[in-house]
Amino acid sequence: MSNQQVLRRKLLDLDNRNYKAYRDISGSYEFPDFTLIVDYVQGDPFAAPSKLRVQVPSSIAAFPTELYSNRIREIALRDYLSRQVDAVARDVSGRRGTGKSGLIAVTRIGQQILERTSVYLIDTVEEKEREKPILPSKPTPAGNLALERAKPMPQRSQEKPKGVEVRLVVGLPASGRRILGRQAAEMICDDIPYIIHRTLKYERLDGEACRRHVETAEDAQWLRDRLPSKNLVAFVANGSILPRRSGVDDRPLANQPVPFESPSELEVEFELPNKGQIKGMGIPAGVTLIAGGGYHGKSTLLRAMELGVYNQVPEDGREFVVTNPAAVKIRAEDGRSVVGVDISPFIAQLPQGRSTTEFTTENASGSTSQAANIMEVLEAGLSGDVDKEGIPLVLLVDEDTAATNFMIRDRRMQELISKDSEPIVPFIDKVRQLYTDYGVSTILVMGGSGDYFDVADLVVAMENFQPYEVTEKARAIAKQYATGRTPEGGQEFGEIKQRIPLPASLDPSRGRRDVRLKVRDVDEVVFGNEDVDLGAVGQLVSTDQLRAIAAAMVYAKQQYMDGYRTLAEILDAVMGDIQSRGLEILVPFPQSDLAMFRRFELAAAINRLRTLAIK
Ligand code: ADP
Ligand code: MG
Repeated sequence: MSNQQVLRRKLLDLDNRNYKAYRDISGSYEFPDFTLIVDYVQGDPFAAPSKLRVQVPSSIAAFPTELYSNRIREIALRDYLSRQVDAVARDVSGRRGTGKSGLIAVTRIGQQILERTSVYLIDTVEEKEREKPILPSKPTPAGNLALERAKPMPQRSQEKPKGVEVRLVVGLPASGRRILGRQAAEMICDDIPYIIHRTLKYERLDGEACRRHVETAEDAQWLRDRLPSKNLVAFVANGSILPRRSGVDDRPLANQPVPFESPSELEVEFELPNKGQIKGMGIPAGVTLIAGGGYHGKSTLLRAMELGVYNQVPEDGREFVVTNPAAVKIRAEDGRSVVGVDISPFIAQLPQGRSTTEFTTENASGSTSQAANIMEVLEAGLSGDVDKEGIPLVLLVDEDTAATNFMIRDRRMQELISKDSEPIVPFIDKVRQLYTDYGVSTILVMGGSGDYFDVADLVVAMENFQPYEVTEKARAIAKQYATGRTPEGGQEFGEIKQRIPLPASLDPSRGRRDVRLKVRDVDEVVFGNEDVDLGAVGQLVSTDQLRAIAAAMVYAKQQYMDGYRTLAEILDAVMGDIQSRGLEILVPFPQSDLAMFRRFELAAAINRLRTLAIK
């Protein structure tokens, strides 16, 4: 009798028993084409679903090795397979009873190709060996498996073909609190093999689509890596479709989108490894202004560039819009908490003598929140190693979400409100110093103030969704109509201070021993007692990133926060560990629903903790 039958028998025998009895199925089972591992069994039908893994040996998965011949290809292939399994699984899983009964899924996946923990390429025992002794069905308790698996994934060796591991969440079916054994047997012994058969065997997949997914990601990554060689911070390919279907639907606009076409002055060309020649608009390092009338596509262009730090799926329309990986969206975020941030380059002498070199508030204003957002990103962009240069950042700012008084202060206002009574040095008077002192570029959408003509290296105007290069024209206008402003920013930008976060201020366990982390949706992560609002952190694209960030905060606290290390050092260390050993190190047992994030978003989450304390 195969293990599959043993498991089926077991599930049938559990029928009508108390839900807790499902615990008996923890362990590992040999199915004809794969190994099924039950890592974690949920305690009741409403709890977080059970966690299962399926391992398909390389002889059966049989993916051509060129689909994972380098890191980005492997990430893209894993992403592709995650999508396939999830789609078929959700299709198959109907509701089978109470709570999450019947659910089979991987995780929700959007338009971005991310490194995920849902699918791995693994070394597997080959079929010949598998045929020999089928292991007796002595299940290992989930706890033991968990410990075994907490080790990082083994490193890839290129020569050997890889098998595939997929991680599923499964709602073990119940009626009330009674086990539905027959349905469970169907799900695990029929549906899962069907899903695996449909999605993890290369011959059963659309090989062309799979290849395109991998090659698109590789091309986009390659393009992003080449930006500095042409002194660019962003590239938007000709023919890109930038607008989205709606504010809540991130797929490309279907109804008569205007394809992007670079102005000839800004057109650059690349030879992509797979797609070959590509042309589009290159935005050089420096200060770039995107002007244009309302509703002419400015914000849509900037949004595409915000997401250009990620690789998009083929047919997204933005798959060849790529941005410097350290491009960060900056916006006003009134109401947020700020802890000990030196915002003095932008804001001095607040009313009531409040300090701005260690600015702390439970409730920031539009302008102070935007200043803090910039200073925190600059801090996160520093290297933990003081002798090393920081990362060359790009700030992305849209007037729609900026605080007006932070962005501009015109001649007339300078006359009415003297410098002594205005604590804010507007962004316009610091944006050049940011570039000259720290190499930080800015791409700014601004239709409302021509004052910025004076500080821009490049001015692009959007008209009817098409860009035009208008720098010379803007310069001539600036000459003809002087603003009469007095610059208020001084010669230098000012200092970027490093802070030292105190570990005790991150308490995910509410004083108890177990760690409590919860993720609600893309906007919010619950960390212990606290809801951390990340709604204004616009470059988070997946709940899985939030979940990983929450886990990374715990990891950072446990491993590196010691009251001596600076935030930049901690970010270096945590991101370095994840880079070399994988997202796996963040969690105690195999989990399908973590996705890669950047140091900036990790910093953003730490910075928004209301309990954060700084040395
Ligand atoms: P702006 O920021 O200049 O006011 P938006 O970028 O918000 O303009 O765009 C206004 C509207 O036009 C949005 O509904 C957007 O989806 C749509 N849009 C943007 N770019 C295009 C395009 N290339 N083709 C068709 N519609 C577009
Ligand atoms: Mg806009």
